[in-house]
Amino acid sequence: MPFQLDNTDLAILKSLMEDGRKSFRAISREIKVSTPTVKGRYDRLVNIGLIKGIKLEIDFSKVDRSGKAQFGDALQSLKKQKKHFHLYVEGLQVKLKCDFCGGPVHDKPKVLKFANIQRFFCCTECRASYKEKHGSRIEMLKEQYKRR
Ligand SMILES: [Zn+2]
Repeated sequence: MPFQLDNTDLAILKSLMEDGRKSFRAISREIKVSTPTVKGRYDRLVNIGLIKGIKLEIDFSKVDRSGKAQFGDALQSLKKQKKHFHLYVEGLQVKLKCDFCGGPVHDKPKVLKFANIQRFFCCTECRASYKEKHGSRIEMLKEQYKRR
């Protein structure tokens, strides 16, 4: 199943192509959407494999506790918004490849979510095999994500 990109995704990509080290906040100001939206979209673009090779380092020690909570809330509400994502897409599509076998994902992808990561598979078998193969790494990433 292809992924739809909208203008917000494109604006983020364009902005990052100018300077891949730009902060989410800087992008947020530039394209006039909230920072958590930028972050969420960025994660998604990475998850579907469109963004590759931009290294971003965030110093979480600079985020205070209340900031972190706000961040979490914003991400939650962003997740809800995502349900409506398909209502305002504009026909740009990203083709998905199965993260296990590398084959095309034709139908609805089988999704594996952990931490802020999503992996997409052509079938439940591939998803299960991936889980089995990368189980310990997945657990490690989950732990790291919890501790943020
Ligand atoms: Zn597969």
